[in-house]
Amino acid sequence: MSADELEYDVIVVGAGNAAACAAISARNNGARVLMLEAAPETERGGNSTYTAGAMRYAFNGVEDVLSLVPDVDADTLALTDFGSYTVDQFFDDMFRVTQYRTDPVLCELLVRNSLPALQWMRKQGVRFQTSHGRQAYKVNGRFQFWGGLSVEVWGGGPGLVDMLLSSAEKKGIRILYETAAISLIKDNDGVRGVRISQRGQERDLHCKAVVLACGGFESSAEMRARYLGPNWDLAKVRGTRFNNGQGIRMALDIGARPHGHWSGAHAVGWDLNAPAFGDLAVGDAFQKHSYPFGILVNARGERFVDEGADFRNYTYAKYGSAVLEQPNQFAWQVFDAKVSHLLRDEYRIRQVTKVTADSLEALVAQMDGVDATGFLATVDRFNRAVRQDVQFNPNVKDGRSAETSPVRKSNWAQTIDTAPFEAYAVTCGVTFTFGGLKINGSGAVEDMTGRPIPGLFAAGELVGGLFYHNYPGGTGLTSGAVFGKIAGEGAAEFVASRATLPAA
Ligand SMILES: Cc1cc2nc3c(=O)[nH]c(=O)nc-3n(C[C@H](O)[C@H](O)[C@H](O)COP(=O)(O)OP(=O)(O)OC[C@H]3O[C@@H](n4cnc5c(N)ncnc54)[C@H](O)[C@@H]3O)c2cc1C
Repeated sequence: MSADELEYDVIVVGAGNAAACAAISARNNGARVLMLEAAPETERGGNSTYTAGAMRYAFNGVEDVLSLVPDVDADTLALTDFGSYTVDQFFDDMFRVTQYRTDPVLCELLVRNSLPALQWMRKQGVRFQTSHGRQAYKVNGRFQFWGGLSVEVWGGGPGLVDMLLSSAEKKGIRILYETAAISLIKDNDGVRGVRISQRGQERDLHCKAVVLACGGFESSAEMRARYLGPNWDLAKVRGTRFNNGQGIRMALDIGARPHGHWSGAHAVGWDLNAPAFGDLAVGDAFQKHSYPFGILVNARGERFVDEGADFRNYTYAKYGSAVLEQPNQFAWQVFDAKVSHLLRDEYRIRQVTKVTADSLEALVAQMDGVDATGFLATVDRFNRAVRQDVQFNPNVKDGRSAETSPVRKSNWAQTIDTAPFEAYAVTCGVTFTFGGLKINGSGAVEDMTGRPIPGLFAAGELVGGLFYHNYPGGTGLTSGAVFGKIAGEGAAEFVASRATLPAA
């Protein structure tokens, strides 16, 4: 046996947010921990690195926000209404957006542990800041937060991964890069280790417990087509190229139980000309999330979703698949000068597929692939349907609707009539997949009979059952933190119990 094989109690597969939280939590509970990362060090951290670091948690008011960001300056505080986002509101959002399918046990753990998990992360060295830039509009001189998100990690996803992994390393946790787990080693007493491929060389690493935290199958075109359906192989991947479903597959191979929405995925409107996988230099800025203030048209020039159905946090994750269903899998977002100041920073990056014009006719002439007659008729019908008796307010669901067929616009409808006009081309960008493994309340992976597989734990994207159809923004990182911490504790406790058993 090599030194590697003898040294560690717990092997954590992955080095994103869920894996780092699991590793730190297992270490804090006394286990000797090794992390395996398929990516080279320069691409470490999986999808977690690509995020803006927005994290959803239940809070009762400004005191809870300050428990995460104690250094908000007095002037900013005086001008800000953080409001609250209660445990009940978080439950309501999870049930509503998942069409009442979220696993009640997992959802309860997620919601109730959300604030404590972020407070725990802070103790592990993660710094937070308020999300004034993305989650609050200034109306009448005051910032008002909306949509249940109030904080993000300092430095976004790269900051999160750096802070967590440097904290892990300070605690003596070793990370092996360019080392992919390819299968699990199991005997009659459960999981005993991992077979790895390290720069093409395969070998076995033994341990007492394994935590799988190595993402979903979003980066595998083959698995997307197989489970999500036709044309999903054509979607662009917003994040890492390393989440190929290997963790899910190796668990299923030893009898783990699949759980959740296997034909569902989080997918957004993403720049039509973005690369096939995420680009860390651009991060999440290929997304185009200001569509609630404009309209979205397909190749026929027709609208196909209610752009103002809800706050963007509650619709963006399902509108990518709506774009995928359109002819040639693209759409254009169209805005006029009345709302251009509301467009998020991502609309002003250099790598953007954008056209502008002083007339709608000149605009559509540049909107590649769009039927001009259909588009002009759509805008005309839309403009005539916009309610003029309700004031536009981006901070609330203002009820300023347009009663159009076949889809209405429920909020924030404004006529598109003021030059200059702008249009942005998007396609479907897949973020992560919803189907995965069934875990119990201790983070242990269950077998087909519902019993925990001894020594196997899981956290993060590859846990199934939380999200169906849709997703409330900022919940992925919180899920990774909550279930990573639980899985780390569960694995450490299992190691301690295994140590007290007679040797096999
Ligand atoms: C562009 C973008 C923006 C996002 N913005 C947000 C946001 O602001 N807030 C939010 O909450 N969520 C956001 N998300 C979703 C969020 O990224 C995920 O929900 C979360 O990061 C998943 O964490 P994870 O640890 O489970 O997976 P990951 O962070 O993807 O980590 C998985 C790790 O496993 C590694 N790996 C894969 N296979 C193997 C293997 N066989 N062996 C060893 N290692 C392996 C990968 O290299 C990676 O390090 C965003 C996602 C993207 C792509």
